[in-house]
Amino acid sequence: MNRTVSCPRCGAPVPWGAESPFRPFCSERCKMIDLGAWANEEYRVAVKGEDEETDPGSAESQRDAP
Ligand SMILES: [Zn+2]
Repeated sequence: MNRTVSCPRCGAPVPWGAESPFRPFCSERCKMIDLGAWANEEYRVAVKGEDEETDPGSAESQRDAP
């Protein structure tokens, strides 16, 4: 009895069993990409506020330079 799921990342068929340690992902890479995707979103939100603070300063110093 072999159940197969689709990798949420690339859609590849993944056998649902001990031979697929990264299920429901087809591989560690797809798993890391998916985890990284939402981690990136969190990171971008955190960096966004910081970016707004640093942007005017760097723009000003660029204008000061000849
Ligand atoms: Zn995949």
